[in-house]
Amino acid sequence: MALADALSSPREAMELDVVIVGAGPAGLAAAIRLKQLAARAERELSVVVLEKGSEVGAHILSGAVIDPIGLNALVPDWRAKGAPVETAVNDDRFYYLGPAGRLRIPNIVMPPLMRNHGNYIVSLGNLCRWLGEQATELGVDVYPGFAAAEVLYDDQGAVRGVATGDMGIGRDGAPTARFSRGMELKGKYTIVAEGARGSLTKTLTAKFGLREGCQPQKFGLGLKELWEVAPERHRPGLVQHTLGWPLDDRTGGGSFLYHYGANLVSVGFVVHLNYANPYLSPYHEFQRFKSHPLIAPTFEGGRRIGYGARALTEGGLQSIPQLIFPGGVLVGCAAGFMNVPRIKGSHNAILSGIAAAEAAFAAIAAGRANDRLEAYAAAVAAGPITRDLRRVRNAKPMLSKFGTLLGTALSGLDMWANTLLPGVGFGYTLKHGKPDHATLQRASTARPLAYPRPDGTLMFDRLTNVSFSATNHEEDQPPHLKVRDPILQKQSEHDVYAGPSTRYCPAGVYEWLEEAGKLRFQINAQNCVHCKTCDLKDPNQNIDWVVPEGGGGPNYSGM
Ligand SMILES: Cc1cc2nc3c(=O)[nH]c(=O)nc-3n(C[C@H](O)[C@H](O)[C@H](O)COP(=O)(O)OP(=O)(O)OC[C@H]3O[C@@H](n4cnc5c(N)ncnc54)[C@H](O)[C@@H]3O)c2cc1C
Ligand code: SF4
Repeated sequence: MALADALSSPREAMELDVVIVGAGPAGLAAAIRLKQLAARAERELSVVVLEKGSEVGAHILSGAVIDPIGLNALVPDWRAKGAPVETAVNDDRFYYLGPAGRLRIPNIVMPPLMRNHGNYIVSLGNLCRWLGEQATELGVDVYPGFAAAEVLYDDQGAVRGVATGDMGIGRDGAPTARFSRGMELKGKYTIVAEGARGSLTKTLTAKFGLREGCQPQKFGLGLKELWEVAPERHRPGLVQHTLGWPLDDRTGGGSFLYHYGANLVSVGFVVHLNYANPYLSPYHEFQRFKSHPLIAPTFEGGRRIGYGARALTEGGLQSIPQLIFPGGVLVGCAAGFMNVPRIKGSHNAILSGIAAAEAAFAAIAAGRANDRLEAYAAAVAAGPITRDLRRVRNAKPMLSKFGTLLGTALSGLDMWANTLLPGVGFGYTLKHGKPDHATLQRASTARPLAYPRPDGTLMFDRLTNVSFSATNHEEDQPPHLKVRDPILQKQSEHDVYAGPSTRYCPAGVYEWLEEAGKLRFQINAQNCVHCKTCDLKDPNQNIDWVVPEGGGGPNYSGM
């Protein structure tokens, strides 16, 4: 069958009340609250959640220490219902690291919002699996393995739903024996819960100009390993964060280390994507970090059992786009509700899912469809999400402007001011600098960086670690990493910036290979862990990440 014939065959369509894209905390919270409201009102309501991972939780990568405020509001009896939220934080430590030493910042000087007592250490992936079960029990249709690939519009230009991608198109663009058309899911409202840098979110943002009037969104790349540690090294309930080494003072980022469950430790490292040196490798900074004398002993006698990476939003309050458009809304990290100094976004993801559900349900009950859910935008503006983000709004710009040491001290003062004078603080809101793709310096002016060789015990090479993400893609499919202009990639990404993609990608997807005296940009798309960093950090915005066939990508377990 020719591609044109295949694509002209009709798609099956489903008419629904609400279509939700993404089974993370935000999307699942929206689904659960919609069904709770429908049950209370004794009315039928059809709700579908599409998830590109092979199962719910397969693409969730987080710390995670959660503030239970969102879960309490969504499922107040989560304990009785057996939510996998078991390890309460009992020890909370914050250090500034030097190459061999450390300085502990006393808890008393930390602004109260930064403290973790009352929070829980979890696997956010497992929590999402449990939320998925709660949603299914309430009658939500959760479809893992289905990637939303296209936004559908009505004649007036309002969003009418989404279509899943066609399956079985080969690498050469021709239909294979596996070919099947995608499906149209049409809804009165579409809730976009794709997390940081969603591919449909990007389309909708451009179409409706959602970023007009707000600051650029800022991002970080979070890398994480899950370890089973020796029992004598395990301190259940310990939460430890660091700033400083191995990053220099002008490069933002830091680490997390959480002890929970049965001898489990989540260890991770976030590098702010406004870094300047194109030779920097976030992955290798993470590996080096584990060798610090404060950190390494935790892993003696243990074994790494999982690896993954994911971008997170860092722009906060001043980077929140317009949340609504005709026919739908953005929720969770698709909207940028991450609180960066707290390294927490799951609570706001859940709260935003709830707020979107309440607005959509009220509109549907009033007989409305495919219009703007102003009530959702108003609820976010007047509610706990905005209060949470307002208190920390200057932290990220201060770090970017003044560096880690001075920026941390100043943002600490600023957060205290915002705690003591809620909603006011010192009265100003700082702007962010350039978008992250524009912050790289030319390689000719940058210092090449050398990293220690992996020892295979504490520090691992990238490809071995990627195998611990259980990443898998159907090999015979068009690449989901699209380089718009190959000549620009060579002349700028390679020649001017020395190929930063070969370093920022946490899965080793990109390589510049020399063959017969010619350079070739090799893309090992099957290794992609869907972190979205290439879509964010390529200096020319020349790489476009689109969804691969549903079910492809990492298969995280317990991350
Ligand atoms: C390293 C790291 C550490 C973190 N630590 C913490 C922490 O300790 N505490 C905390 O509260 N928060 C933490 N966060 C942030 C937290 O993980 C996010 O705020 C939260 O997961 C956002 O939820 P979400 O539902 O908006 O998006 P996500 O959790 O990203 O979920 C989005 C879902 O949508 C799916 N999806 C995306 N696009 C499509 C599509 N087109 N079609 C179908 N499915 C799609 C994805 O596969 C995914 O399952 C951390 C994040 C990172 C990266
Ligand atoms: S190819 Fe892009 S999205 Fe995939 S792992 Fe690498 S940087 Fe992340």
